[in-house]
Amino acid sequence: MSEKPLGTDFRVPEASRRYYFLNASPGETFDSIANLVKYVLQVPAVFVALFDGERTWLPSRVDPRLTAMLAGEKTLPRATGANPAFNPPTAARIGGGANADGALGLVYCFGAPLTMPDGFNVGTLYALDEKSRTFSAEQVSVVEDVAKLIVKQLELSLVATTDNLTGALLRRVFFHRVASEMERARRYQSALSFLSFDLDHFKEINDRHGHPIGDLVLKRVAEVVQRGIRSVDLFARVGGEEFILALPETDRDAVLHVASRLGEEISGVVVHHRDTRLRVTASFGATSFSPEDKTILDILRRVDFALYQAKADGRNCARFCDSTTSATPFYLRSEDLCGPVVPCSPVDPAPRKPD
Ligand code: GH3
Ligand code: MG
Ligand code: MG
Repeated sequence: MSEKPLGTDFRVPEASRRYYFLNASPGETFDSIANLVKYVLQVPAVFVALFDGERTWLPSRVDPRLTAMLAGEKTLPRATGANPAFNPPTAARIGGGANADGALGLVYCFGAPLTMPDGFNVGTLYALDEKSRTFSAEQVSVVEDVAKLIVKQLELSLVATTDNLTGALLRRVFFHRVASEMERARRYQSALSFLSFDLDHFKEINDRHGHPIGDLVLKRVAEVVQRGIRSVDLFARVGGEEFILALPETDRDAVLHVASRLGEEISGVVVHHRDTRLRVTASFGATSFSPEDKTILDILRRVDFALYQAKADGRNCARFCDSTTSATPFYLRSEDLCGPVVPCSPVDPAPRKPD
């Protein structure tokens, strides 16, 4: 089988799904990089774009007029390892001329691919000018080095914000990101739900098959969850084998549907060890944001309670704790995860069993 040239594949690597944390405010580092490239190429506009298969992010600061035009672009031309500097014919006038604010009249004149060590392209470093240009070998070489620095920066951000084993966000990063999601939900009165899950009888897997196999199971579970969620969803590891998801634009019915689907996918994970086919299930606790929620701690109290209920009710099921009637959690029976939500009688939240 012929080897694919490095950096020509735009399939989304699992790792690049984790760059959603870069969707936050424009990073100063990327601004400095963009300024440096502007100087080297002597062009009026430079920006970094990251792609995740569904969305494009612009982590460096971009002229607002340019942002408006880029928003109208269906697909930005992407640089690949095989085509590092795209001069004409790839160069295209952005805004398509139809844009009333096309006064900027810029064309893509350089695109350096952002290629991760595994060979996947996660974005492009763009330079724009009023006309297409050719650059000297030295300029191209400097910009390609800068592209490598951007990749290093992405890798460092990944290490600083995600869990090494599972790729899920670290707890503190999740809390930080969730605060702005809660603010957005409050301001726009949009739905926002949370789903935590904990693997069932996981200690047995470690005890019987050893810690490295337990680690492998955790990794596989995180992979199916990451594949099964949207890029706007936040996924974090909050404890040993306990995870949490924040799901914007997701109401109670939808979050329970997600729980049901992820529950099925997790129970479909099979890890082979010696003669054994290992399987695992998870118990889920869900809740939805309410404007009365001040901090993530209000949310955690409810998902913890719902998760505790799911464990108490036999595991491999989901429970929902309603925010408006904190003393009256609503929950689903395991056999009808997606069925009607059944109100249950008031129960005092019991403390979670420590891991
Ligand atoms: P339950 O259904 O009540 O959740 O039972 P459990 O056995 O999953 O729960 P318990 O809290 O007793 O055990 C959790 C286990 O998870 C204990 C710990 O050894 C294991 N664990 C925590 N972090 C890791 C990790 O990073 N790797 C591995 N392999 N195991 C871990
Ligand atoms: Mg467990
Ligand atoms: Mg646990």
